[in-house]
Amino acid sequence: MDHAFPCGTLSLDFAGTLRARRNAAPAEMLGSPDRLDSWFVESGMLDTAPGADRVDLHLAVEVREAIYALVAARLDGARLPASAVAVVNGHAAGPQITLRLDGDGATRTGSVAQGLTALARETVEILGGVVGALLRECSRPECTQVYLDRSRGHRREWCSMRTCGNRVKAAAYRARVHAAG
Ligand SMILES: [Zn+2]
Repeated sequence: MDHAFPCGTLSLDFAGTLRARRNAAPAEMLGSPDRLDSWFVESGMLDTAPGADRVDLHLAVEVREAIYALVAARLDGARLPASAVAVVNGHAAGPQITLRLDGDGATRTGSVAQGLTALARETVEILGGVVGALLRECSRPECTQVYLDRSRGHRREWCSMRTCGNRVKAAAYRARVHAAG
């Protein structure tokens, strides 16, 4: 797998494909049309690569940045930026992924535009619904991954326990050992 899906909500994982956003040099995980293709397949949204080109990549990054801008505004308690609302609404109205019953299973195929529609629709459902109140940003300051805190008691601190949670806990443990020794 080339890509990480830490948070369990695809549109928010997609927003996280620009990692460590507040660092001087954030890490771009969608650096080429091939990387965008592999994101759609590894995420399980599409069974076959949509065959992204440069224009698709440009549109995908535009959608990603719109999703992040909307979530960041919500987390700040700020008004949703109109330009990002327009981008997400525009894509949400597009054609949906093609679902086919195929023997015992289902196949999911489509273009990049269809994949972006699914991500935009999920974003509308999050920001336009009660679930938007569960938006959080990972507590590891460098991370900047956003997620929905569906945990009981709403105490989820990390985008992913396996990555950020363990990193922070291991660092705290080392600090304690160092202080004691
Ligand atoms: Zn994190």
